[in-house]
Amino acid sequence: MSDRLVIDSLDFVRNAGSRHGKIPLVELVRLHDLLFDQEGELIYQISGQFDKNKRPGLYVEITGKIHLHCQRCLDKLVHHIDLQTFLILAKNETELNLADDDDTIDAILAIPDLDVFNLIEDEVILSLSIALCHADDECSMFKLKSNGNGSADKTKPAHPFAALAALKKTN
Ligand SMILES: [Zn+2]
Repeated sequence: MSDRLVIDSLDFVRNAGSRHGKIPLVELVRLHDLLFDQEGELIYQISGQFDKNKRPGLYVEITGKIHLHCQRCLDKLVHHIDLQTFLILAKNETELNLADDDDTIDAILAIPDLDVFNLIEDEVILSLSIALCHADDECSMFKLKSNGNGSADKTKPAHPFAALAALKKTN
């Protein structure tokens, strides 16, 4: 495992800090359950900024290509990550709760040892909370269904047990 990136979040903003780099998907263990395979990497950029109301926050940008399961056919689905988010740094739980009530902002607790990889993993997992499927013309499940109308596929047995019956005959 490569070095984790840990920042003192408020200090990072005060110093107008900026970091960028790559994270191999292999290292984002919590993401693995959602992935088809662990190929590829995410490219991230994080910078400390104040918003227009002078609140400290982190601007996070994440891009990359990951492989998910299509929620329809469960086959490999190539998914492009392209996230940009501004996370307000809440100084305490009260501030965080206030921010949670406001749909227009996202906030996290300003901690002195913020694990950036962890944060990035959280953001990606959040972005994957919707069910993702292939486009209709790329999904094998959809193709199977649409085979029913007219053009019969001759390479497939008419009945799932037909192949089995044929096998038995040869024995
Ligand atoms: Zn599919």
